[in-house]
Amino acid sequence: MTHHPASPHPKQFQHFIDGRFTASSSGRTFEKRRPTDNALIGHVSEGGQEEIDAAVQAARAALDGPWGQMSVEERSALLDRVADEITRRFDDFVAAEMADTGQPRSMMEHAFIPRGAANFKIFADVAKNVATEAFQTATPDGAGALNYAIRSPKGVIGVICPWNAPLLLMTWKVAPALACGNTVVVKPSEESPGTATLLGEVMNAVGIPNGVYNVVHGFGGHSAGAFLTAHHDVDAITFTGETRTGATIMKAGADTIKDVSFELGGKNAGIVFADCDFEAAIEGTMRSVFLNCGQVCLGTERLYVERPIFERFVAALKQRAEALKPGDPQDSSTTLGPLISDAQRAKVLSYYEKARAEGAIVVTGGGVPELPGDLAQGFWVQPTIWTGLPENAAVVREEIFGPCCHIAPFDDEAEVVRLANDTPYGLSTAIWTRDLSRAHRLAARIDVGIVWVNSWFLRDLRTPFGGSKQSGIGREGGVHSLEFYTELRNVCIKL
Ligand code: NAD
Repeated sequence: MTHHPASPHPKQFQHFIDGRFTASSSGRTFEKRRPTDNALIGHVSEGGQEEIDAAVQAARAALDGPWGQMSVEERSALLDRVADEITRRFDDFVAAEMADTGQPRSMMEHAFIPRGAANFKIFADVAKNVATEAFQTATPDGAGALNYAIRSPKGVIGVICPWNAPLLLMTWKVAPALACGNTVVVKPSEESPGTATLLGEVMNAVGIPNGVYNVVHGFGGHSAGAFLTAHHDVDAITFTGETRTGATIMKAGADTIKDVSFELGGKNAGIVFADCDFEAAIEGTMRSVFLNCGQVCLGTERLYVERPIFERFVAALKQRAEALKPGDPQDSSTTLGPLISDAQRAKVLSYYEKARAEGAIVVTGGGVPELPGDLAQGFWVQPTIWTGLPENAAVVREEIFGPCCHIAPFDDEAEVVRLANDTPYGLSTAIWTRDLSRAHRLAARIDVGIVWVNSWFLRDLRTPFGGSKQSGIGREGGVHSLEFYTELRNVCIKL
């Protein structure tokens, strides 16, 4: 196995404010470590109130500058160039994201980085082509009135991101925000400073005006994240992360009536009927449980399998899970990365313990794999499958965000709908069946924002994306993003 040591010269990840890279005025930094082997890859500037103030001020000023004067066509053309520049610097983005998250190169190359670039293209198109509504209104004098709505940017948008797919999730918000003419202050996760910083270079290279895209690194509570959410001159917050954090952010924004768009946690159910295409269901379920080492908000942590194929399904999933190969992300044979941090590993391992204590049958995994050399220092856990737990067990109810799932048998449709809905979350579900009438029935009854039938994570970026219940507020994607990133203004003209 080839293993690439960390650079002997750790990087400096600086804030990007008003078109310039800058350190914190306090001089404070924190360490970013590589998940594969715990090597130090860089020092990250730790932003505080001062940096948030400066970034918000720059973002506000940019709204009144050249950015605010641009037509939607001019803005869209610039965003197309952002996408092209990400593609031109593809290898830099792949390397930065791979260093931050430790996930296999193939996933970066085929999904996460191209999708990051694609977000700029699609939202540039959406903003250019969206229609507005108009009404003719009758008036007593018979002459009537004409109403039409125009969209204007909401203003300065605070963007708070998680670490599990850093570029993809950040651009999913930054691209529509900018396409609609807003300016942004991004607070990336403290665990993934790389690609947000690199995007600053891209913005300068293609001529995005200063202050339009700002990045302040730092932590969440009592740090850059909290200062951003409470800032009086930030108009709205778009946040992806844990449900608990969402609640804190909502409270922080309440005093200034900030609009929020939330993409939060999940405890997603996979439902496998006996009539499914067995191989396709196994293949899709493998991805939905283990992709990104289980660190995908849409991932499946609860599986319900119809009784006639339960034993066969569990055995097949076990066999495939045991064939996953953890290792160096550069190595093309690697199919499983590590968790993001030591803290995340401690959390996942605590659930592995809880499962055992609650009486789970550990079908496979449950511990830490052995890796050679420096990789032994990384944040690895074994892919893990449990059966035999009641529905009220902690690992069946709580989001773990690791490479693991519990599998339970079910006997009929009504029962599985009840089981799938018995959760405070409502993000996504994947249904595997050849009976499409049944798939339609279930899709209408499972209380989630996203239903996949005979697939998982098949995304069309024009479709509404978001969760119900405690999995989120609002929908982003395609024209739905415009609902959040613009103010609709009605103009009424008496004729
Ligand atoms: P997190 O909530 O811990 O952190 C997310 C971001 O919020 C980070 O940048 C963090 O610094 C910041 N933050 C934390 N506390 C804050 C505070 N008080 N004020 C302002 N900012 C604060 O989440 P995470 O661990 O980075 O990500 C994993 C979570 O994200 C999981 O729950 C997962 O389901 C969820 N997620 C959801 C989606 C979705 O689309 N629904 C997508 C990806 C991840």
